[in-house]
Amino acid sequence: MPVLELQGLTKKYGDFTAVDSVDLAVEAGEFVTLLGPSGSGKTTILQMIAGFHIPSEGSIQLRGQDISSMPTHKRNMGFVFQDYALFPHMTVFQNIAYPLKIRKRPRKQIKKSVEETIALVQLEKFAHRKPHELSGGQQQRVALARSLVFQPELILMDEPLGALDKNLRGHVQLEIKRIQEITNVTIIFVTHDQEEALVMSDRIAVLNESKLIQYGSPRELYEAPNSYFVADFIGENNFIPGTVTSLSQDDVTVQTVQGRELSVPLRGETLLEEGCQVHISIRPEELSIDDDHAAAAGKLRGRISTKVYMGNSVKYIVKLENHEEVELSVSAGRNALLKSGDSVGVSWADVEHVRLIAK
Ligand code: ATP
Repeated sequence: MPVLELQGLTKKYGDFTAVDSVDLAVEAGEFVTLLGPSGSGKTTILQMIAGFHIPSEGSIQLRGQDISSMPTHKRNMGFVFQDYALFPHMTVFQNIAYPLKIRKRPRKQIKKSVEETIALVQLEKFAHRKPHELSGGQQQRVALARSLVFQPELILMDEPLGALDKNLRGHVQLEIKRIQEITNVTIIFVTHDQEEALVMSDRIAVLNESKLIQYGSPRELYEAPNSYFVADFIGENNFIPGTVTSLSQDDVTVQTVQGRELSVPLRGETLLEEGCQVHISIRPEELSIDDDHAAAAGKLRGRISTKVYMGNSVKYIVKLENHEEVELSVSAGRNALLKSGDSVGVSWADVEHVRLIAK
């Protein structure tokens, strides 16, 4: 049985639907991220799970029990927010002890649980400091410890790393992952940062305009996006326009720019039919580039407009000949020698990596 199950979850503010009929199941011990652009409804979903908002329609079940109208303090969930919300006048120890105190646990047990949790987040040396005497990353670890200490069913995190700089953010991401793996606690995490979602999650729920678009593992979303939105939002992608010219049981033939044709294996796409317009979608790392612009069959001709050194790779932006509106991003080894202005041929190494998305 899932720990948490949302069914038809909906939130309306007057005429505006902030969350539109979302179904989602979270298994015990999973790290699930709600990912979407600003205003897509992530925080509203989290706040309904927390009990800060009552759903307009649909239900929230915790281990099979409907909790849609249960008060927040009875839900046994921990929270971590971007602004930490630590008590400024209490020490680290007292902050972490707080949830146990209000649950009236015995003193001895409080001391033991707090000490264990402080060790887990590696803050032993800071137990007697006040929040203002800690760095942002340390404060976030206190917030995490406080949400863990009473062994909640779920921890809800809303953009918890939003206030940290990029380096520290990467560090704290791995730290949260480590602690989650040790404790096996279930976490629901909100972010608008797709890289963060890929790094941290077992499964990602992609939201757009109040709706759940796709729910799957990072790999499924990256390799098999179900829509243009997901293909564009998760990772970098190229989209080349095409028209379906024929369909067989196993593959689809598409006519594309520069008179090229390609056959792509069918993978259960049901919306495709002869004559329909598609995006041919392919990742930068699945394209090859060379200076053979005489253009053998299967290659697209173009010119490098920009070369970007990325440290561990080089990225080329290629404008296609006669189709300047189509820009391809191609990832190459960091020693790649081609340069801006070069005429090039671009090809897909393997049609297995090409996906067709109906327009
Ligand atoms: P962000 O990443 O910017 O925090 P989000 O995906 O978390 O965005 P929500 O905060 O869930 O988005 O908001 C979803 C939509 O609901 C937004 O368009 C927002 O303006 C609207 N909304 C949220 N709260 C209310 C409210 N109390 N009254 C009216 N509209 C609201």
